[in-house]
Amino acid sequence: MGLSSIAYANPIENKRADEIYQLFDSGKFLPDDEVSELLQEYKNSLASNDTVRQQLHIRLTCWNFPYDTSEQMKTAVAYADEYLKIYSQPSPSLIQVDLQLCKSWYLHYLGQNSSLFSILDNAIDNAYLLEDPRLIADGRSIRGTILSYMGNFSAALEDLITAQNLYETLNIPYWANVNLSELANSYRRFGDATTALKYQLKLEQVYLKNKQLYAANQTNSEIAMSLEELGRYQEAIVRYQKTRDFWLKEKEFIAAADTSISIGGNLIHLNRLDEAKSVLEQAEKQIKSDNEGSYSYMNLYLAQVHYQLNNNTQALTYAQKAETAFRYSENARGLNKALRLKSQIYQGLAQWLEAYQSLSAYVESHLALDKQTMSDRNTEMQTRFNTNKIQTENDLLVQRDKDKEQQLQIMQRNENMQIIIIILVAIILIIVSIFAYKQLMRKKLFRRLAMTDELTKLSNRRDTYSQGQHFLKVAQLSGKPFSIISFDADHFKQVNDQLGHEIGDKVLVKLASICASMMRDTDVVGRVGGEEFLVLLPNIDKTTAIEIAKRLIETIAHYDWQQIAPNLAQTVSAGVASYSNEVELSPLLLKADKALYSAKAAGRNCVKAE
Ligand code: GH3
Ligand code: MG
Ligand code: MG
Repeated sequence: MGLSSIAYANPIENKRADEIYQLFDSGKFLPDDEVSELLQEYKNSLASNDTVRQQLHIRLTCWNFPYDTSEQMKTAVAYADEYLKIYSQPSPSLIQVDLQLCKSWYLHYLGQNSSLFSILDNAIDNAYLLEDPRLIADGRSIRGTILSYMGNFSAALEDLITAQNLYETLNIPYWANVNLSELANSYRRFGDATTALKYQLKLEQVYLKNKQLYAANQTNSEIAMSLEELGRYQEAIVRYQKTRDFWLKEKEFIAAADTSISIGGNLIHLNRLDEAKSVLEQAEKQIKSDNEGSYSYMNLYLAQVHYQLNNNTQALTYAQKAETAFRYSENARGLNKALRLKSQIYQGLAQWLEAYQSLSAYVESHLALDKQTMSDRNTEMQTRFNTNKIQTENDLLVQRDKDKEQQLQIMQRNENMQIIIIILVAIILIIVSIFAYKQLMRKKLFRRLAMTDELTKLSNRRDTYSQGQHFLKVAQLSGKPFSIISFDADHFKQVNDQLGHEIGDKVLVKLASICASMMRDTDVVGRVGGEEFLVLLPNIDKTTAIEIAKRLIETIAHYDWQQIAPNLAQTVSAGVASYSNEVELSPLLLKADKALYSAKAAGRNCVKAE
């Protein structure tokens, strides 16, 4: 059984005491008298102020009580209770937890399994609070052992596997092996005797090699149980006999009788009923009802033997005893067997009602056991592989993965959307730009159209006048000269009349181009009437303007008009006027018109100035 940590600092040295402690903790088998001698020596060696080892002494004493009889076990429980009273502090302490564990262990041996859990669970909780891994391991190993015995395999395996990990991590091989053997037992009880046997054979080798004969013997009997479970009854009997011999040599008669019961059970399987009966009846002399574990199976086997030997009345008595004992120790598997046998015995006795009642009780307990086993199997698998946790973690990971993927998709979609939006916006912008550009072009075109003479592409009358007004203002402000030439095609009516309107148009276009080509870029040539033109000459004084006008009429007169029509000759007459403090354009225009009129009057193809 468990013995807990000494791994805390003790400033007081005591080598001998620590040696004794290690001896106990190593798991070495010690006869009862040697145990009490060593405990006494330990106590005597302690300094009066060595409170740490004083507490350890109490713990060692508790764990090393002899426990062959229920009286001894009750004494141990009383001892634990006595010191629990002394060490019951509001906050948990190592000694308190260890005493709780110790008490639970003896209560287990006394068959008080359901009542011990409040103490045991509390002890384990406290061990966790104290963060003492050795105490946690001890607590969970003990609880696992008891739970396994009671048939609660899932919880048992969880405890035992946790304890196993802790013992191995803490490098405590002896208790790791003890726990491993309990783990193997659980597998056997759980129905996986093959796994159990594998562990047990390995353990037996370890114990034999270390000359831990006590532990090796214990393992031997557990191997026997696994063999029995596997239906290898003859091999089991040989193993059990070896254990019985060990106990007899150690003068442990109760343990030997206990083993005899198992031998009896296996002999029944081999149908060696007389041998079974005799070995069981030998055991019956040693095993009392307070040894409920052995007592219950002994009665079950005796009932079995008598039933098979057709002693139904005796069989019934034993079966009743077995049922009561199994119920008391809450052994579901044993109870199940007892109920089934009882029903068979009642059938043998032709007590049909009782047979039926036992049978239905059996069915009920069997179903409950099946259900328990099923859920245990499930939980066991989950415990063993921690699938539950891994599953949740996997689920979480999968979920996280899905979320990520979804986010990526959303991002991708957003990205696509952004691209689409950008493209759409770009398209809209282009359309709008094109539209705006076209509008602008159209506006420009309208303006140009509004300001241009369609035939000659010169400025029209409105535009020419407006520009003339502007030049006049500039001249007004700058004091620089500004002149205008007004010219008109001579006898143009005749051109139209003799050569047709089309030729007339061509002549007008030609007059415009000749004039425009002769002027500067800053000058403006406009068509202001049917065959009347106006030239605006900024920065040009009257003299220069007359010269320009003369050059103009000469150029026109000398142009080879026959290119347009045979025998065509075209001249123009021009009137020049220059700015001299006019406020508006019209008086200036009037002056130019007057000059033009003079030129016409003077015979045409000439220039006059006002
Ligand atoms: P003058 O030498 O005295 O100016 O004589 P004219 O025949 O040129 O003068 P008049 O005012 O009597 O005649 C102008 C003619 O110009 C009348 C009209 O048929 C012609 N005309 C006016 N606009 C256009 C035009 O756009 N195209 C053509 N082919 N003829 C036009
Ligand atoms: Mg004319
Ligand atoms: Mg005219």
